[in-house]
Amino acid sequence: MQPFFERHSLHFSCTACGKCCATAGEYYVFLGAGEAEAIREQLGLSKSWFRRRYLDRLEEGVLVLATGQDERCIFLDSDGRCSIYTARPLQCRTYPFWPELVGSQRAWQREAARCEGINRGARVPRQTIRKALKACTEQEG
Ligand code: SF4
Ligand code: SF4
Repeated sequence: MQPFFERHSLHFSCTACGKCCATAGEYYVFLGAGEAEAIREQLGLSKSWFRRRYLDRLEEGVLVLATGQDERCIFLDSDGRCSIYTARPLQCRTYPFWPELVGSQRAWQREAARCEGINRGARVPRQTIRKALKACTEQEG
């Protein structure tokens, strides 16, 4: 069977509520090749300081963004905005068009409980979703 987004129109409009950047200890923001360096360059920090302050490594050695106060992404500012917006990782840029979210109606509707932008606003062109999925798959690659 085709994935859910190919069979139904998905609507999405981000309200900038910032909830998807509050990990609540449930998930991580993973970094693909070159993404940590792009953020570091944008911030203009030394490699060692950036690594200590903004990155974490999971037990299996995988690189993720550090978590800040109240289990929020360390780059979420006090106004609920991303402070590295133009260099934010692919995981953030493609949300909520992740394979595990757009593949089934159940997953999509469950995510809507967390993200108030889901099921809001205009229909998202399927091509946009396909592009996001392709980028996610290539990064996992
Ligand atoms: S939770 Fe959804 S609506 Fe809120 S900032 Fe994230 S993507 Fe936008
Ligand atoms: S990098 Fe920016 S968009 Fe991504 S989780 Fe952190 S604050 Fe949110």
